[in-house]
Amino acid sequence: MPSMASNTSDKTKQLNGTKLDFFGRRQKIEQHRKALPIATVEKRLLEEVSKNDILIIVGETGSGKTTQLPQYLFNGGFCRNGGIIGITQPRRVAAVTVAKRVAEECGVALGQKVGYGIRFEDVTSSSTRIKYMTDGLLLREALLDPYLSKYSVIIVDEAHERTVHTDVLLGLLKNVQKTRSLGSSDVVHNGHQKGENGAILEKENDIQSTNILKHNQGKKLSPLKLIIMSASLDAKIFSEYFGGARAVHVQGRQYPVDILYTHQPETDYIDAALITIFQIHLEEGPGDVLVFLTGQEEIESIERLVQERLPKLPESKRKLLVIPIFASLPSEKQMKVFMPAPVGFRKVILATNIAETSVTIPGIKYVIDPGMVKVRTYDASTGIEPLIIVKTSKAQALQRSGRAGREGPGKCYRLYPENEFYKLKDSTTPEIKRCNLSNVILQLKALGIDDIVGFDFIEEPDRMAIIKSMELLFLLGALTDSSKLSEVGHQMARLPLDPIYSKALIVASQFNCLEEMLIVVAMLSVESIFYAPREKLEESRTALRSFSSPEGDHLTLLNVYRASDEFLEKSKLVSSKEKAEKNLRKWCKENFINSRSLKHARDIHSQIRRNAEQMGLRVTSCGDDILLLRRCLAASFFLNAALKQPDGTYRALSSGLMVQIHPSSVLFRMKPECIIFDELVRTNQNYVRNVSRIDFLWLAELAPQCYALQE
Ligand code: ADP
Ligand code: MG
Repeated sequence: MPSMASNTSDKTKQLNGTKLDFFGRRQKIEQHRKALPIATVEKRLLEEVSKNDILIIVGETGSGKTTQLPQYLFNGGFCRNGGIIGITQPRRVAAVTVAKRVAEECGVALGQKVGYGIRFEDVTSSSTRIKYMTDGLLLREALLDPYLSKYSVIIVDEAHERTVHTDVLLGLLKNVQKTRSLGSSDVVHNGHQKGENGAILEKENDIQSTNILKHNQGKKLSPLKLIIMSASLDAKIFSEYFGGARAVHVQGRQYPVDILYTHQPETDYIDAALITIFQIHLEEGPGDVLVFLTGQEEIESIERLVQERLPKLPESKRKLLVIPIFASLPSEKQMKVFMPAPVGFRKVILATNIAETSVTIPGIKYVIDPGMVKVRTYDASTGIEPLIIVKTSKAQALQRSGRAGREGPGKCYRLYPENEFYKLKDSTTPEIKRCNLSNVILQLKALGIDDIVGFDFIEEPDRMAIIKSMELLFLLGALTDSSKLSEVGHQMARLPLDPIYSKALIVASQFNCLEEMLIVVAMLSVESIFYAPREKLEESRTALRSFSSPEGDHLTLLNVYRASDEFLEKSKLVSSKEKAEKNLRKWCKENFINSRSLKHARDIHSQIRRNAEQMGLRVTSCGDDILLLRRCLAASFFLNAALKQPDGTYRALSSGLMVQIHPSSVLFRMKPECIIFDELVRTNQNYVRNVSRIDFLWLAELAPQCYALQE
């Protein structure tokens, strides 16, 4: 009718447009869900879960396990009595992005029916029924709720990754499930199931169950369903660990992927990756590119290099969109990888190995794999735990190339010669075999599991690593002479930080400088606050100088944080919060500070400040008393002390290793007599990073348990 047509205002048109689009998106999502390989076996999976208390599900990456199974279970009535379906992920990025996706698929706001929890961030509510979280977070939850009683189903996802948290969780869940299947915590103690692990373990399991019991005697418990999901085709290890548990396989969909190798080994894989990105962009047909890099620094440096080269291409070739994804990227930015590129643009995703199996990014046709990965290693003889960059395993290389063939035939460019592939290790060593166990031991002890050696690990850690990690906890005052958790140890276990950082906060509250230490620890918890692009090295050094403290990097980081805080507060006085934050990003850029890292540090700071306050630690400032703060640093980081040698290098006192101050440190040229450091990085040399000057005599005074009898 004419009258209606004339009534149609622009606003209504807009609304109608939005509505149509909304329906379109929902339909698209429904279509996508139905087309996933896992959708064909929904009914069968529900039956299997009903029949089996422990089920192992193996399925190729991208088949829909992580996003779909929890929804099937929810619809299948597994939350009927208010129980929650918990899904653990080894990586925070996966927990966050998948939760967002599933909330959208369910048509609910994030944090309502579908939510997530990661360290320093809780996006759940009392109505949350599907909760994605990191494996580390569920372990922490066990401290407060030893039976994990709010969960009706727990899915340990990405179990093939074999992170130390996943491994420990499996042991813990095995016990929790046993207890809960008997209905009441009393029963386990008396009627302990005679089991599969032989006489000795059986006895030790008994001790562990008894200890867990102390927390929660006599409570009525409902049974727990346990599902272990893995992308590795070998389910045997999990099945055997759970006493011959049933394993089912979900068929994936994989198109052929052409694998290309270089003729020669590449000396600079960053450069090689950069060249390959442009080669694909200029010579290959449409399709997005996924590049596997080892960390934030590499990703950001390639991001900059691509941006710099783009303007040099002919105008028509500049439609390249670079999108980074790594763990400490703010979560709202992480979702960008899933958005389709604008028409005519090619997306280049620069990712760490989170894109290997944890998250599936649509649209990828080309994969660039330099064959490297950053891993934590542990040397039990020295007690050091450097992050090093090593070659991937064959399994990882295959997972990476597989990412190119999810939606159609693809290509994978391995930046090494073919014969190198055959020399790679078949699979990655589980993290529990190559990490410092002090954090895990602290948590197990806090759960009442005192017999660490007797714990039913899926794969036993080295005895030497256990001993060394216990020694570290003892020196930090977390354990008593009889290896029980001390009062300080209990406090340390409550903080979501590495034991040394937790101890630093506790010590700082005694030194009256907790306000400063909270900032220092938050800043140390993020990667690379400063950046120094090669072509602007001088300018970045000048910028750094305005914050730098002659006492070292810890105080320098404190100065940066405070300066940024001051800037932000001032800015907020005259502009809106959004504008002020935008100004802060500009300020960061001018000062060669990584605004993403700073933002992350600010978030961590507010969280650990809350934790400290909840624990009753006194948050006071030492004001201008720098000496006090330095002494507190010595009292906290004494395990990482080093003394200058006549040749200008340093000897790390607890490990005996020869180390050098990293060139990024403000003390690089100053070379004081005695230092403490935050971490040791091993490249071609042993470097120590985040270094501060201390007085050697303070060590004996403040850490007599370590240094009294030395020298
Ligand atoms: P699996 O766990 O078996 O590897 P997922 O459940 O993670 O599989 O992924 C299933 C599908 O969902 C994939 O095709 C993936 O591209 C898609 N998907 C996952 N997260 C998102 C997202 N945030 N946005 C768009 N698609 C997504
Ligand atoms: Mg998955």
